[in-house]
Amino acid sequence: MPSPRYWREVPNRYRLEGAKCADCGKVTFPARHVCPDCRSANMEAMALSRSGKVVTSTVVRTPPDDLLMESPYAVAVVETPEGARLMVQVADCDPEEVLPGMEVSLEFRLIRKEGHGGIRCYGHKAVPVV
Ligand SMILES: [Zn+2]
Repeated sequence: MPSPRYWREVPNRYRLEGAKCADCGKVTFPARHVCPDCRSANMEAMALSRSGKVVTSTVVRTPPDDLLMESPYAVAVVETPEGARLMVQVADCDPEEVLPGMEVSLEFRLIRKEGHGGIRCYGHKAVPVV
């Protein structure tokens, strides 16, 4: 059974839904009810672009058990054109070649299978733009 946390995160995971502050313009991901910059509660839901640039990355060589088959893999902080930053796995490339500034697209993919039933959990992964 997927965890309650996973279900709460479905709008973020499935639709890349963040929030934009109507007062100062700050974009957050995941969505927040209060702006971290100006403390305004005037936040509006906003769908993020399905693209971005790598800000920083690392290579995971000792993953959790449910990602053993994918090791080694790269995990990166990606900034979207709206200014939101999210941490995602980088797929379809050599993990050693993921560098800051790399253009990526954010694609809807299988993230992992949870529990003994193997329930599929989906979300977004970054894929280098060639
Ligand atoms: Zn604000």
